[in-house]
Amino acid sequence: MGGSFNPIHYGHLVAAETARDAFALDRVIFVPAGEPPHKARTVAPAEHRYLMTFLATASNRRFDTSRVEIERPGPSYTSDTLAHFHALDPDAHWYFITGADAVMEIAGWHAAEDIFRYAEVIAVSRPGYALRLRSLAPALGDNISRVHHLEVPALAISSSDVRARLSNGLSVRYLVPEGVEDYIRKCGLYESERQA
Ligand code: ATP
Ligand code: MG
Repeated sequence: MGGSFNPIHYGHLVAAETARDAFALDRVIFVPAGEPPHKARTVAPAEHRYLMTFLATASNRRFDTSRVEIERPGPSYTSDTLAHFHALDPDAHWYFITGADAVMEIAGWHAAEDIFRYAEVIAVSRPGYALRLRSLAPALGDNISRVHHLEVPALAISSSDVRARLSNGLSVRYLVPEGVEDYIRKCGLYESERQA
């Protein structure tokens, strides 16, 4: 599961756990992006996002956090990341877990063909975003059969909203794991961020 995880929140964790269960996955690897395109100015340093993701996933024995994107120079492309994991274990059946907002754009991602070459896609529902897989069909062609729709418990949480709450001095309790909130406060992350 890829993302900025800026910061990781319960929406990510519920999506991952529901996908793990529904598809009987051995494990879910969270992959914080190194340099998310279009977001550079509001994104906390990669090491912070990695550590928050690590903290949030540490208590689940089937969750892991990977440094692969934060250590790869240049923009993080999901296709490169899936090629990396495929090469590590070519016999494994890999899935890419993504939310409804992100999957609707997947056809336009860098080397989208490779994403489908190395993995199937689990597209999870997300409040506020319609999952219209049929409208993706023209852009994806036959690869549409490799996209699976999964309903997950609806949590209308986003990292942008968590950041806005923090910069406005509001509570993020029950939106992010306790350890993540502690870490954010300890490092003073997102305190002065101006939200658009
Ligand atoms: P931001 O507001 O900064 O974009 P975000 O909450 O969308 O943050 P990302 O790191 O961009 O979080 O998302 C990583 C992945 O998790 C994406 O595929 C996204 O669609 C999915 N996702 C994020 N929040 C939820 C949620 N509440 N429910 C389901 N999926 C989610
Ligand atoms: Mg997002």
